[in-house]
Amino acid sequence: MKDRDKLRDYEWLLQRLYQRIPPKSGSAELEIPEPEMIQIGSKVIVRNFRRIAEKLKRDPYIVARYLLKEMGTGGKYEEESGHLTLDSQIRRDTIMKFLKMFEKTYIRCPTCMSIDTRLEKREKERIWFLVCEACGAEQPVKPI
Ligand SMILES: [Zn+2]
Repeated sequence: MKDRDKLRDYEWLLQRLYQRIPPKSGSAELEIPEPEMIQIGSKVIVRNFRRIAEKLKRDPYIVARYLLKEMGTGGKYEEESGHLTLDSQIRRDTIMKFLKMFEKTYIRCPTCMSIDTRLEKREKERIWFLVCEACGAEQPVKPI
């Protein structure tokens, strides 16, 4: 191999490397795990729900309450198993769609787009804020 070709290869490799490194800022993509679902009769169980909530860094009860309300279905989260049981046939892509909406409102900072945020309940839990740990912005959000 000629030196010039070697150099070209090196640049190509570097370029590939840079493309693979995610941006360092907190505005990185939030990778929501795919819901692992099983169907039992007319119910659907999301087996990895606790893991999904952990990835979102939110209380699983809050995420569950949001999903049930927004999707208009009954169901419940069980702490022991980490499962979310839904009382109706809900498709995986529907759950993903609502998880992304949850991310948009209750996780991602609207000011700097960071996902390093937390939910704070104030005024006897009547008023909720999305507080950003990256830029300090506070955004009132609808209580769930
Ligand atoms: Zn922010």
